[in-house]
Amino acid sequence: MRIDVITIFPEYLEPMRHALLGKAIEQGRLEVGVHDLRNWAEDKHRSVDDSPAGGGPGMVMMPTVWGPALDDVAAKKVPANLESAEAHLNRPRHDELEGIEPKAYEAKEDSELPLLIVPTPAGAPFTQADAQAWSTEEHIVFACGRYEGIDQRVFEDAKKRYRVREVSIGDYVLIGGEVAVLVMSEAIVRLIPGVLGNRRSHEEDSFSDGLLEGPCYTKPRVWRGLEIPEVLLSGNHKLIEAFRKSNSVARTKKVRPDLITRALKEGTISPADLEQS
Ligand code: SAM
Repeated sequence: MRIDVITIFPEYLEPMRHALLGKAIEQGRLEVGVHDLRNWAEDKHRSVDDSPAGGGPGMVMMPTVWGPALDDVAAKKVPANLESAEAHLNRPRHDELEGIEPKAYEAKEDSELPLLIVPTPAGAPFTQADAQAWSTEEHIVFACGRYEGIDQRVFEDAKKRYRVREVSIGDYVLIGGEVAVLVMSEAIVRLIPGVLGNRRSHEEDSFSDGLLEGPCYTKPRVWRGLEIPEVLLSGNHKLIEAFRKSNSVARTKKVRPDLITRALKEGTISPADLEQS
């Protein structure tokens, strides 16, 4: 997969060089390009914004700068310039299991066009289902807005060379799109086959089956007077699985009842599961 990010703060994307994303770059599973939008500015001040049409507070990012930037990035005229921060390959994850075949998610769209993801609070909510579908993409471009956002005509025009998705990471307003790009990149890249050493790590995660994951524990057995639930030490896999499922349903019922309604409708859980939790 190749990811390109266009931003006026390239240094904000530094975390993409570290940990699992850095390792994916080093393994050649991921290429990342981070590009300063101001490289496409037309004046000597390298301006990228102007006052909003119709008046009002703040500034709006200019189509005359964004248009050429998106043209060049769609055509890969700019390099994938982000290198992994450090050597990761000699440090396998503790949960890497030998002989487990990496499994790809199913591609939802069949298109030659790159995917343009535009972070915006006014977009459709980003979900785990999006992360799964987009983990199969070959080329994803992120357009980071700042100020009041980007002139809407940029995205109308971009539809000629991209599949455009306006996406929100939550019902709150950030200062810029960079943090949203980090959030989505992590969610997407960890699902690329081979990026996580053990694919079960994400198959059992929250949202993968429509529910939240229950609590997890590790050694020591007793810590500050608090014990690991007995069943988890029993070695009985059937009982452990039932315990985890019931905890997952109980937690979801408590904090995300909306997910329970959906899981019942989709048959992921039964009314009996709900009663036993
Ligand atoms: N005027 C915009 C509105 O009310 O919808 C808010 C603009 S915000 C201050 C600046 C930039 O931050 C946006 O263009 C977007 O890139 C990013 N941003 C803010 N909140 C976001 C969210 N919840 N999800 C994704 N991106 C967000």
